[in-house]
Amino acid sequence: MDKKDLSRIKLYLFDMDGTLYLGDRLFSFTKELLAEIRRTGGQYLFMTNNSSRSVVDYVKKLARLQIDAVPEDFITSSQATAYYLHNHQEGKRLYVCGTASLCAELAGEGFPIVTDPAEAECVVMGFDTELTFQKLHDVSWLLTVRPDIPYLATNGDLVCPTEFGYVPDCGSVCGMIKTATGRLPYVIGKPSPLMPELAMVRLGRAKEETAVVGDRIYTDVKSGLNAGIAGILVMSGETTREILDASEDKPDLVLRDCGEILDVLRTLPTA
Ligand SMILES: [Mg+2]
Repeated sequence: MDKKDLSRIKLYLFDMDGTLYLGDRLFSFTKELLAEIRRTGGQYLFMTNNSSRSVVDYVKKLARLQIDAVPEDFITSSQATAYYLHNHQEGKRLYVCGTASLCAELAGEGFPIVTDPAEAECVVMGFDTELTFQKLHDVSWLLTVRPDIPYLATNGDLVCPTEFGYVPDCGSVCGMIKTATGRLPYVIGKPSPLMPELAMVRLGRAKEETAVVGDRIYTDVKSGLNAGIAGILVMSGETTREILDASEDKPDLVLRDCGEILDVLRTLPTA
């Protein structure tokens, strides 16, 4: 893929931190970039692996950074989990090791949420900022006494960034469960192709006109490559030249930052 091929992209799936902003600092090009995508007849979604917060929380976070967004502008690993469950475990009673926000979202999709593990037909792990030992106990019991029970995780991230460093994310808790039971979950979030696939279904876009843009190769770019769409790496976040050179997964396009996408969009006619 060449930079000029960006003119065929009509749906951009953006990672957020490291791509559109860094921490609490909005990149200078971001507001105009989003406006230019819409001016030229394109669409975009903000894509996140974080299943601990609702999209309403993200709308507020972006508002603090002066970006106007509505809940429909987001695609989350929680939504992709519901999408997967509808396709593979429709109507199953779920034991959820996740936040009340995640439980409410899955319940809103029509899945009964149970707190008694004996009633569960499927186990879902999320980024559980309300984790208790009882949940670890219940999940371990379920995976041990029912070795065939479907076992999913919203995301595989080991850590989540905070103001001071990192806290354990869903993947780390799944590691504890693996130690106890030997079982690993089927992971829904990036680098799985499920979020890009759901985005294309939802907005009726084809693979050729869709791209993932992010600052991590092993999650963002890989989800695009796995979905058969363009995977664009921006060097404005955590990936260094050394990481890029050492990576087996090669992005379709490597850009300094999303300002390079803006440069191309500025040359396109208004749709
Ligand atoms: Mg990022």
